Amino acid sequence: MCGIFGYIGNKNAGEKIIEGLKRLEYRGYDSWGVAVKSNSKIDLIKKMGKIGEVQFSQLSLPSSNIAIGHTRWATTGDVSNKNAHPHCSSDQTFVLAHNGIVENYKELKKNLYKNGHRFKSETDTEVIVRLIESKLNKSSDFKIAVQKAFLDLKGRNTIILLRDNGDIVAARNGSPLVVGLDEKNQDIYLSSDTLSFAQYVKKTIIIENNQLVFIRRDNVKIFNIKTGKNIKYHAEKLDIKDNKIDKGDFDHFMIKEINENPFVINQVVKQSRRKYDALAREIKKAKNIYTIGSGTAGFAAAQIAYYLRAYGKIRAVSLVGADAREYFNLFRKGDLLIAPSQSGETADVLEVLEYAQKKGAQIVSYVNMEGSTMARMSDFKFSAQAGPEVCVMSTKIFTSQIAWGYLVAKTVQGKYKEGINNLQELIKKSQLYLKNKKSINTIKNLSHYLHNTQNIFLMGKSQNLQIMNEGMVKLIEGTYKHAHSIPAGDLKHYAITLIEKGVIVIVAISNDEVKPDILNAAGEVRARGAYIIGVGSDDSELFNSLIKVPDTGETSAIMNLIPLQLLAYFLTVELGNNVDKPRNIAKSVTVK
Ligand code: GLU
Repeated sequence: MCGIFGYIGNKNAGEKIIEGLKRLEYRGYDSWGVAVKSNSKIDLIKKMGKIGEVQFSQLSLPSSNIAIGHTRWATTGDVSNKNAHPHCSSDQTFVLAHNGIVENYKELKKNLYKNGHRFKSETDTEVIVRLIESKLNKSSDFKIAVQKAFLDLKGRNTIILLRDNGDIVAARNGSPLVVGLDEKNQDIYLSSDTLSFAQYVKKTIIIENNQLVFIRRDNVKIFNIKTGKNIKYHAEKLDIKDNKIDKGDFDHFMIKEINENPFVINQVVKQSRRKYDALAREIKKAKNIYTIGSGTAGFAAAQIAYYLRAYGKIRAVSLVGADAREYFNLFRKGDLLIAPSQSGETADVLEVLEYAQKKGAQIVSYVNMEGSTMARMSDFKFSAQAGPEVCVMSTKIFTSQIAWGYLVAKTVQGKYKEGINNLQELIKKSQLYLKNKKSINTIKNLSHYLHNTQNIFLMGKSQNLQIMNEGMVKLIEGTYKHAHSIPAGDLKHYAITLIEKGVIVIVAISNDEVKPDILNAAGEVRARGAYIIGVGSDDSELFNSLIKVPDTGETSAIMNLIPLQLLAYFLTVELGNNVDKPRNIAKSVTVK
């Protein structure tokens, strides 16, 4: 998932890279590295862990106008200094950083080894470096060597190179890459995302798959990587109004973003009715409807499918990005795939969408990052317009995705207006809830109570099932505790063996037709000594504690989600874990 960043211009390039890497750190924080071109050599620094508050002045790097950098999320080779990027060529004339996985790296490495190349790291990335060297042995043209080496790579890969002559070269096939230019094309940036340099640029060029970029001083050239032919490009004006990344008065981005839940639901309400109507028409026409996502977005996709079935009476099937292979043969013209995604760059989801699109299916995306690959490839694109989500754990974006799915389903049902009214009521009630000190304290106290708990079970049904799955994800991500979500009715079929005195079971309930069933399941675990935390508008004698939320009718599952996000937050804080950057995960998962 790594982040890559490059700069050529009039400013101190090292400083630019450090600032850029801080903004890209959500993509991985196992290690980072900066390479700076000075005179005719390259100076390189690599460090383990997060870049944190590091300043350029603390590094023994020369001032220069040209540099590249990388922040790593390890896929191949352990988290160590030698595996950190950028990786250096044997003659030290260029360095390379990479985002992706070279799927055939073992085979390439074997051949290179046979031909005398030696390796200093365990990464697939170093294989690209040696491959370029081997191509350079046969041709003195650097562009051709990079081109040929890149075409030998299998998988989704994006690379950036810095040469000792000051050229920056990059190539994309899969992971995102974007060029940013200031007004006079004198400051040129290259990065995994636009937000990392948005405040300094006026125009951007989105690099597409199979393109090679050459940057020399104030000159950007783009080539087709297969043919080597020059590609004419058009730099788009950048229109990002709010690029502030600021916690405000909050201690962490996570709690700030949970408090933005009402705002993001309002963004769903504010989108044009025409777009909802047009999408509803396509949904009704489609042969098969699939929703798809990974991780948190996978549970959002499942909740959207639930809403489409429950309100739209549409047979919607939800898929998980990494596990949809058997559907490849089933996709056909007339199908519609709906993909909610924060980044719009999730590799395993993109692979499925690309495949389905080739088979003639239509793609609908609901993405927060403008200009992302997913948004650009979509037949219908909705932008969440939820503002940057900085905490690696997603909160407000999940809320936004399911609120959007609810409104889409209500539109399909022919009750758009009712959907809007219900969401407006949810906005009001969730706002009051988040401001209510007593409610928040109930959750804080519960987080003290759960401090030493090892296992947390969560039970839900129908509209609350995916909400509990997402509650589980939040607890696992932030607290590193074992959380286990289960359909309430399935409990008695197996997981009940794990229930004994004092085991924590969180139960989410809405005032709907399955309420008696959930209460039955609650009774079954209570009878075996479980400590039950109820989430809902009504108390029950079965609950040991109640997280009381207002009743919001059809949207009550969305309301129930908010205290689960808060509980994960307060417990993460209570345990002293890193809230905004939990260990081992990254926000934009651009590798499979
Ligand atoms: N495969 C490379 C590594 O492990 C890059 C990983 C990535 O892009 O996440 O260093």
